[in-house]
Amino acid sequence: MAIVHSDAPERTRTILIVEDEPAISGFVRRGLIFEGFDVHVADNGMDALARLRDTPPDLVVLDLMLPGIDGIQITQRIRAAEEAEGTPRLPILMLTARDAVADRVAGLDAGADDYLVKPFDFDELVARVRALLRRAMPTTGISQDVLTFENITLNLTSHTVERDGQMIELTPREFDLLAILMRHPNQVLTRQTLMQRVWGDDFYGESNVLEVVIGNLRRALEASDDTRVVQTVRGIGYVLRAQ
Ligand code: CA
Repeated sequence: MAIVHSDAPERTRTILIVEDEPAISGFVRRGLIFEGFDVHVADNGMDALARLRDTPPDLVVLDLMLPGIDGIQITQRIRAAEEAEGTPRLPILMLTARDAVADRVAGLDAGADDYLVKPFDFDELVARVRALLRRAMPTTGISQDVLTFENITLNLTSHTVERDGQMIELTPREFDLLAILMRHPNQVLTRQTLMQRVWGDDFYGESNVLEVVIGNLRRALEASDDTRVVQTVRGIGYVLRAQ
């Protein structure tokens, strides 16, 4: 009987849970350990920052409402440190309260990658965690000029987009918007982030120009009865996600 060697056994991924409610951190911790992750818990912001510095995890599940230093401040510090030190972006999944849309926007604008609203299904949490970890994995061997998501391919050099091998015609704005979404798959991007990245800092206000371009982009991408991948996150923004 042949012995099969796997090329590179997958390293155990470490997740830090920052949550002050023991019932929630315990439930999430047990579930993630069962899923094969190495899990640490911090129940306050100071402890979280110390652990992030001393034993950096592969991903953080971060409660927004914490005593002392809250989830927004922790996120801002993580992103500022990454910027200053040039270290890779740590995936952050934020936990927020129901009905607190403003908190979700603040969390995403501070630099969280995705969020879950309490109470959440554990299966949903694991799906989000796995999606964020997949995205964070280094994509060695893949040209930075070509972005792919599901059956969509976007070439930044030739400015072309294909879905299932079919060429799709896009305007420059639609192309820029799709490129940003494809650089951040499964990451909720706020309206403000998208507006700034596509139109620049000087474009503000209640204009529906983003919605119009999103609508046109969807029509172009869904022309051949393809499924929707540009999803609306009500009150917040958009996410490229296959559902
Ligand atoms: Ca809390």
